[in-house]
Amino acid sequence: MAEPLLFLEELPDEVTATIETRERALAALGSASGGLEFVVQRLQRWLPGSTVRVAFLGGDAELHADIAQLAGTIGEHGNLVLDFGFDANTGNYRTWSEDDDEYGAEIRVSFDQGGFFSLVGTDSIAEDIGPPSGKVGGRPGQRSLNLGGFHIQRPASWKGTVLHEFLHALSFHHEHANFRGPCQLAFRWEDDSDYVPTTDSRGVFVPDPAGRRPGIYTYLAGAPNFWSRAKVDHNLKEVRGPGIEASEFDRASVMLYRFPTLFYRTANSDCAPSGDGQSLSDGDQSGLRSLYPSETDASEDIAEGKRSLLGELTSRDAASGAELESMGTSRAGRSRALAPSVDCLKRQLAGRY
Ligand SMILES: [Zn+2]
Repeated sequence: MAEPLLFLEELPDEVTATIETRERALAALGSASGGLEFVVQRLQRWLPGSTVRVAFLGGDAELHADIAQLAGTIGEHGNLVLDFGFDANTGNYRTWSEDDDEYGAEIRVSFDQGGFFSLVGTDSIAEDIGPPSGKVGGRPGQRSLNLGGFHIQRPASWKGTVLHEFLHALSFHHEHANFRGPCQLAFRWEDDSDYVPTTDSRGVFVPDPAGRRPGIYTYLAGAPNFWSRAKVDHNLKEVRGPGIEASEFDRASVMLYRFPTLFYRTANSDCAPSGDGQSLSDGDQSGLRSLYPSETDASEDIAEGKRSLLGELTSRDAASGAELESMGTSRAGRSRALAPSVDCLKRQLAGRY
């Protein structure tokens, strides 16, 4: 029997494009603002001590209750409350709609898109994420977290999927992208030498008649993902940079995928998950404690840092007319292209998260 199709988690391409624009804006700010990099780094995390609201689009009360109960336990491990808006009178949980023009919730769950995905942390309320008329993005009427098909049938591993997506929503990145981990060296990126491209009837790349195997790039270029090389790199290569903190690599994390064996150079790879990924690992729990510490000092530091950055952006705006004049054309053009992201960032910095 053929192996089940591997559908990798993915955001719509047009959403990824807006995230990349914001990353460029943040990178430009980070290099310009020196000591304030601290703040930029923490921008995707909710302010510790916050209550973050969750709402559903579609699905019934039983599904909502199961998700709320499971994801609600995440808050036990860090100083952050996920509030699902349960109404004891009606037995219903909070809902949102595509017509909302104010946030009914910071995390807006849907079941009607293909696959599973979530925006990372406060990207869920960043109004420059996703195209304005798109179904997915950071605006009030857009989906920020999707559990595709859960309203029809939940997969056997639904608990792991819910925890994984909610940890993204709380600003966790993938464990295979942890630059302190082994995955970049443990992955089989390239085909075996002399591999003859061979697909099965579904269009999935499989070993050729001589048993030589496709590598990750080739495998993901086939059905059902059809990923470009750039997309593979974006999703599977390690994440580094001023915005990224990493704790020790954790093989038991719900943020570590189980890939097909052909993804790994060796059997029993260090990069393969050690558990079944259906509950938070000790490392996931300590990650939550460090991202959302209970000491009020940490919250105040972050809030103070946000105020400083907002102040700097505002004063820079006043000077920016002159600055643009004095820049070369390409830098000025680049700066203008990033301006909407910076404006959105300012609104976010002024907000309560
Ligand atoms: Zn993920």
